[in-house]
Amino acid sequence: MLDDNCLFCKIIEGVIPSTKVYEDEYCYAFNDINPQAPVHVIVVPKTHIASALEINDSNSLYVAKCFEAVKKIADSLGLEGFRVINNCGEDGGQTVMHLHFHILGGKKLSEKIV
Ligand code: 5GP
Ligand code: ZN
Repeated sequence: MLDDNCLFCKIIEGVIPSTKVYEDEYCYAFNDINPQAPVHVIVVPKTHIASALEINDSNSLYVAKCFEAVKKIADSLGLEGFRVINNCGEDGGQTVMHLHFHILGGKKLSEKIV
């Protein structure tokens, strides 16, 4: 279920334009508007989940499908290595409260976060 007040729900619905990278029944992926690497794709579930803290038994299939999509996106973009990041909550640096995974790549990433 989508939320009319949510930026990424609006992107999923096409109300706000985005550059689509991948889409299936469960997830949508698009280029980040402010890329932090040559490849910076955002993968979102096609249901409103506010953050990683809201993942539960009834919506986790969407999350699993997002990770299946990560591999498909990496293959389609020719990425051999990349980083997947989820920022969770204010202290985690999350600015859009719709669960999303950043795929960063297209160069050798040097800055180790973990
Ligand atoms: P967060 O900081 O919540 O982990 O990531 C939010 C990301 O969404 C940021 O990297 C930001 O650049 C991206 N973003 C915010 N608004 C838009 C938008 O309207 N379109 C696109 N394509 N990306 C957006
Ligand atoms: Zn949403």
